[in-house]
Amino acid sequence: MADDRAGKMLATGEPRHPRAPQLIKDRDGEDRLHEECGVFGILGHPEAAAFSALGLHALQHRGQEAAGIVTYDDQQFHIERRLGLVGDNFSKPEVIGHLKGSIAAGHVRYSTTGETILRNVQPLFADLGTGGFAVAHNGNLTNGTTLRRQLVKDGSIFQSTTDTEVVLHLISRSQKRRIVERLVEALRQLEGSYAFVCVTNDMLIGARDPVGIRPLVIGRLGDAWVLASETCALDIVGAQFVREVENGEVVTITQEGGLESHRPFPMRPARPCIFEYIYFARPDSVVGGRSVYEIRKRMGAELARETPCSADVIVPIPDSGVPAAIGYAQISGVPFELGIIRNQYVGRTFIEPEQKIRALGVKLKHSANQAVVRDRRIVLIDDSIVRGTTSKKIVAMMYEAGAREVHMRIACPEIKYGDYYGIDTPDRKQLISANMNAEEIRREIGATSLAFLTVDGLYRAMGSERRDPLSPQFSDHCFTGDYPTDLTDLNGGGTGAQLSLLTEVG
Ligand code: AMP
Repeated sequence: MADDRAGKMLATGEPRHPRAPQLIKDRDGEDRLHEECGVFGILGHPEAAAFSALGLHALQHRGQEAAGIVTYDDQQFHIERRLGLVGDNFSKPEVIGHLKGSIAAGHVRYSTTGETILRNVQPLFADLGTGGFAVAHNGNLTNGTTLRRQLVKDGSIFQSTTDTEVVLHLISRSQKRRIVERLVEALRQLEGSYAFVCVTNDMLIGARDPVGIRPLVIGRLGDAWVLASETCALDIVGAQFVREVENGEVVTITQEGGLESHRPFPMRPARPCIFEYIYFARPDSVVGGRSVYEIRKRMGAELARETPCSADVIVPIPDSGVPAAIGYAQISGVPFELGIIRNQYVGRTFIEPEQKIRALGVKLKHSANQAVVRDRRIVLIDDSIVRGTTSKKIVAMMYEAGAREVHMRIACPEIKYGDYYGIDTPDRKQLISANMNAEEIRREIGATSLAFLTVDGLYRAMGSERRDPLSPQFSDHCFTGDYPTDLTDLNGGGTGAQLSLLTEVG
């Protein structure tokens, strides 16, 4: 929509951030597979910023390094972007008080590099010919480097190193009149995964990539509209779930016109990311009409059917293995017990201690509950093995606590392939299952036995009879190597000087 009142941005967040981000490890204080990002948007609510902060807080599991909120108050845009947790930054009255207006977009992020630069923290904002425009991105473009290189060649000056900025440049260059047409023209050039939440001075916009890799839901809160990565963010603000933004759909929402749906892409079957169910999404969220908690239990149940085990107790690795362990215990009839206790105070932005202390490793976070473990044959359940670090430490801890046998069961298949859509798995060299078979891994982690859920078992847990190899129902490339989009940058389209810059995902 044309707009003469080009938004003015007040960027008050930037100078206030001295914290050293390179010390922040992933949510468990371990250098492992990293998180994605979470997005939130709201239109038509007088406390848009406070509600966005609440929504982002509920999405904090999707990224803990930084958070940002942009609002518009009928005169100008306001932006706060901070390193650190939502609760530490956006509970302060001076921060929220500054974010005036009834329309907002927010973002929590995890960057894939060791450091986060404040100018990469989203939402990103630009003053376009059509007015102010803010974008929050969950996902990762697989042709971001290629597009960026072309844009730079054509004269664009980039402010950040995130692939999301490409979108702003593409919109800016579009010759179309209305903002939604400009956005669509930009989207047509993107490859990879995206769930976008954007705001203009009078519009909230949501968009999902053509196969819907990353999730995005629509909610209503009285007369207000909400967009969020997961339903848990609707729940926290008391919004009612309306529906998901569908794959390849763009929704524009205005106060006067309500929600309009646009379908700029040819219809394709959706392929949402199966890892949302395995690990990312919060268990109380409903993704694609399925309760994440129930699906995780079913993964555990399928695992019990596929690889039963004579044992005395089922022990989850907390918190990731808990629902699957409940499912495993229910099918096997073996009692579920808390044989590992998690220290709740190892923060999600755990600051790396001295090496000497760090060598104590997993004990900082987990401790064995001897009352359960001693002299028992235990089945240890976790949701996934990435590098094998956690399993190895925990198996050893179980033996130290007196376990007689430690049978490891993993409620997802072997992760053999990297992810380029925002999960940021380590490269294949570091994925233990890309380099060892199950027996070799068993020996490496020191378990009595080891088994993974099969791909078909995973699909059964999702409610399908089996994986359809011709048209897979989910993005499951981590297990199968079957990527849902082209990988232009990876395949050479984006090699060159800029490649090293583009290591950030949304
Ligand atoms: P690793 O120790 O490298 O084998 O990682 C496996 C552990 O990482 C399991 O306990 C998982 O719950 C957890 N995990 C899986 N995906 C992620 C992720 N994206 N970020 C952080 N931890 C993860």
